[in-house]
Amino acid sequence: MKAVVYQEPYSVTVEEVDDARILDPTDVVIRVTTSAICGSDLHMYEGRTGAEPGLIFGHENMGVVEDVGSGVATIKKGDRVVLPFNVACGFCKNCLANRTGFCLTVNQGFAGGAYGYVSMGPYRGGQAEYLRVPFADFNCLKLPPGDVHEDDFALLADIFPTGYHATQLAGVSPGDTVCVFGAGPVGLMAGYSALIRGASKVFVVDRQPDRLRLAEQIGTIPIDYTKGDAAEQIMEQTGGDGTDRGIDAVGYQATVPEGHEQPAMILNTLVNAVRATGTIGVVGLYVPADPGGPSESAKHGELLFRMGKFFEKGQRMATGQANVKSYNRQLRDLIIAGRATPSFVVSHRLPLEQAPEAYDQFDKRAEGWTKVLLKPAM
Ligand code: NAD
Ligand code: ZN
Repeated sequence: MKAVVYQEPYSVTVEEVDDARILDPTDVVIRVTTSAICGSDLHMYEGRTGAEPGLIFGHENMGVVEDVGSGVATIKKGDRVVLPFNVACGFCKNCLANRTGFCLTVNQGFAGGAYGYVSMGPYRGGQAEYLRVPFADFNCLKLPPGDVHEDDFALLADIFPTGYHATQLAGVSPGDTVCVFGAGPVGLMAGYSALIRGASKVFVVDRQPDRLRLAEQIGTIPIDYTKGDAAEQIMEQTGGDGTDRGIDAVGYQATVPEGHEQPAMILNTLVNAVRATGTIGVVGLYVPADPGGPSESAKHGELLFRMGKFFEKGQRMATGQANVKSYNRQLRDLIIAGRATPSFVVSHRLPLEQAPEAYDQFDKRAEGWTKVLLKPAM
């Protein structure tokens, strides 16, 4: 089968690899219909994670069940399913508590598994024609048959639940004001989710005009941080108080300005932008910087956080991988009911063969390349 394979920093190719097949009785194999490229893939693509050449990328997967292991009870050949990016067992302490992003069974070294992701288990990615799905009864979310809402449902594997998770971590409630840093796919989904949860005013901060336009289109207030300090702009528009809730949907990429010995970071701006006793949710990834990068501490993802200011304001902060399984059934049903259309974020639908160009353009945050869906059968 064909698959998107990591070669070296800034290089993926489409290669012929061994077919995906059942390894355990609890597995299924799906024929992939859509697998999206994520900002999280870019950490590996840019060579900042120690991903080995040969890794098949792709953790945002959906498709149709092709082959079913003898121990699978509820999933049948022909079922249309979407897969949370977290590979999870369903029966460990964390899974039983809905913390499926931290499954203790699948990857005890790191806590939490994922398809096609360095240090998150041996699972191959789905940017390929076929994909093996472990613990299939738990990890498959069934979808209505046919091809209805294909692009909306595809986003249930990661970014829609991750955006929603950000609002959960930040504790967004009806009437709240919210600022979201980052208008990438995840930030846009966080802004969109904040509106779904009844926020009264949502600010979305970025510098990219095309992404800020999308933010405006869904009813959030775009803030261009190149036009002045983002926290000050938000303060001005909230009567000097700051927002009730804040979200980091950027992560490490915003933390290492050229030539800085110790990286400053976006979290300090968030502390400034959120009101005293407000809450902050962090879904942007803090992966260690390039080993050849600016400083020893940066290698370990250490950051300069102004703890004093955070304490002074009596704020709280929560972080982590999204527990996709705990939201994606509910978000699926909002899509089916016509009350959510997350695919507004999708800019490109491309065959696997165009993955190298898509990675290059998405990595450069090229104008108009907001979210790419790879379609192996195209
Ligand atoms: P992305 O990396 O393209 O989005 C980041 C956006 O932030 C870009 O639009 C960029 O212009 C903007 N940005 C950069 N510096 C900024 C700053 N100083 N202030 C405001 N905005 C700034 O793609 P994405 O897919 O949206 O991913 C965002 C982050 O979310 C990544 O770190 C990714 O790894 C992470 N992520 C986390 C989870 C999770 O489960 N926690 C899941 C998916 C993605
Ligand atoms: Zn992702």
